[in-house]
Amino acid sequence: MAAIGASSSDGLIVCFGEMLIDFVPTVSGVSLAEAPGFLKAPGGAPANVAIAVARLGGKAAFVGKLGDDEFGQMLAGILKENGVNGDGILFDKGARTALAFVTLRDDGEREFMFYRNPSADMLLTAEELNLDLIRSAKVFHYGSISLIVEPCRSAHMKAMEVAKDAGALLSYDPNLRLPLWPSPAEAREQIMSIWEKAEVIKVSDVELEFLTGSDKIDDESALSLWHDNLKLLLVTLGEKGCRYYTKGFRGSVDGFNVNAVDTTGAGDSFVGALLCKLVDDPSVLEEEGKLVKVLKFANACGAITTTKKGAIPALPTESDVLSLIEG
Ligand code: ADP
Repeated sequence: MAAIGASSSDGLIVCFGEMLIDFVPTVSGVSLAEAPGFLKAPGGAPANVAIAVARLGGKAAFVGKLGDDEFGQMLAGILKENGVNGDGILFDKGARTALAFVTLRDDGEREFMFYRNPSADMLLTAEELNLDLIRSAKVFHYGSISLIVEPCRSAHMKAMEVAKDAGALLSYDPNLRLPLWPSPAEAREQIMSIWEKAEVIKVSDVELEFLTGSDKIDDESALSLWHDNLKLLLVTLGEKGCRYYTKGFRGSVDGFNVNAVDTTGAGDSFVGALLCKLVDDPSVLEEEGKLVKVLKFANACGAITTTKKGAIPALPTESDVLSLIEG
């Protein structure tokens, strides 16, 4: 019997894709070449979402491949410590865990250097997926980085199909990382190639511009991304909060005013919160009042995540969120 008053139901949220280590300079405003040293920051959007769900009291699993090396073991340990089911994690004997060196230079430009030659996450195959775990998902969540190369792309397609056939709700946050794609045109084409499978899609304002080719962030451009299977489309707007679109209603929910120091993971925290609430009560997709309440909660999660350095350390618990909302 389910515990009465538990903060979240038993609905499992399975997050599929990459987990990696971001190396960030110990000092700010330098180029990668100038950085005197780097700190390890675990990341990868789907893994962040899984931890965001678990921290809020929900049930989450991560499916993806890590290198069978110190860093891969470390990342698997972080998932476990945070209460994320690791039955879908694989380790590659030959390839390393992906690394990304990232810096925000003085001129405001973000500089990336990826170590994916190839990295373990890219080598996940359809045959090695834990299909039983995927079939037990109530929500199956993914991004687009796993679409960039084979064999991971086929593994992604297979996992999505198996989850869908088993009745899971499909949730998509493309998480555009242009430097990883051969060209912007290829990124757009591949991101859109699975567009119509998802029932919940979240894009940022920057992704909306990229995908529509328009410089307008308005209802018209958002609705140009609408498709018949979609139940909820969200556009996140940084400190301004988000807009929402369903078949029956649309609107916006203001963000929270916080002292932002690092926005990494804000979108993942937002998605984790949304999925956590959605799996508890799917009627939020049909009742606008409920949806607005959930999006206020998700905005608060996103906001809190910007107040500390790094994504994972900054992901909030339910009580952190309630303190911000109740102020
Ligand atoms: P992404 O991280 O995917 O680019 P956003 O930056 O739009 O997405 O952030 C996701 C959500 O996090 C926003 O909708 C908002 O609720 C919250 N958020 C992000 N940045 C801030 C900020 N500077 N202040 C307050 N809330 C923020």
